[in-house]
Amino acid sequence: MKQQTIKQSVSISGTGLHTGQKGTLTFNPAPEHHGIKFRRVDIEGQPIVEARVENVVDTSRGTTIAQNGARVYTVEHILASVRGAGIDNILIDINCEEPPIQDGSAKNMIETLKSAGIVEQNAEREYLRINKEVKYINEKIGAEIIITPADDFRMEVSVDYNSKVLKPQTAILEDMSDFEKEISPCRTFVFFHELEMLLKYNLIKGGDLSTAIVFVEGFVGEEELQRVAKLFNMESVGVHEGGILNNTTLRFENEPARHKLLDLIGDMALLGKPILGHVKAFKPGHLANTEFVKLIIENLE
Ligand SMILES: [Zn+2]
Repeated sequence: MKQQTIKQSVSISGTGLHTGQKGTLTFNPAPEHHGIKFRRVDIEGQPIVEARVENVVDTSRGTTIAQNGARVYTVEHILASVRGAGIDNILIDINCEEPPIQDGSAKNMIETLKSAGIVEQNAEREYLRINKEVKYINEKIGAEIIITPADDFRMEVSVDYNSKVLKPQTAILEDMSDFEKEISPCRTFVFFHELEMLLKYNLIKGGDLSTAIVFVEGFVGEEELQRVAKLFNMESVGVHEGGILNNTTLRFENEPARHKLLDLIGDMALLGKPILGHVKAFKPGHLANTEFVKLIIENLE
């Protein structure tokens, strides 16, 4: 395999989920061995922020990276799209702190990247290889992620929220070529009881959640539903049978597990290069994912 980039620049615009800022991402072709880098074009000197795990500064509600005095929030869906499209080298201009959330999935992002055209470069793609199993365990949060050596890449992700509506489930990616169809449309999700907390602390801006999946555990009163309806810019909201807020329906039965897989691919892009191996994750999250990536780097040949 050769390294790949995009043929021409291409942009998408929208609003960030946590900051509510409107912004534009412009994907630009980049030379061989460049890797994935962001450029904050709204800041004097246009500082570069490399998508590398040593630049991770926060993992609380998404993966945030910072370098050269500049910061980019919630990079995981972009990075997953770049990896899913088979791109090695790209320069991503961003004119605000947080990329647009879109519909909470990577669907539009990967379609946009592919619309630019994917082109082969002259240099061979360099894969990272491990020669023994690497296992990350975080007993406090119950997370476990393992990679075993292999000649290809495969990923299996399981989640368990101890919830009656979001049941334990597993998602599998057999080959990165399945990413666009099987994984990229899978949206971020939230529990109803988290919404008010997120709003209270100004961690989400309402209207931007219009297509997010909201799992409703137990009984929710009419007054609370009305409040949330307002937040979604809807006349009224109810709950589907199966415990999902009726602003949307699931795209896959195991859409949440698939989204967690999407996030893990994005966070693993912080390795800097694609890796070969079979990944098995239980209850992954941005903290576990990025710690796992650091552990892999420590164990490289
Ligand atoms: Zn995500």
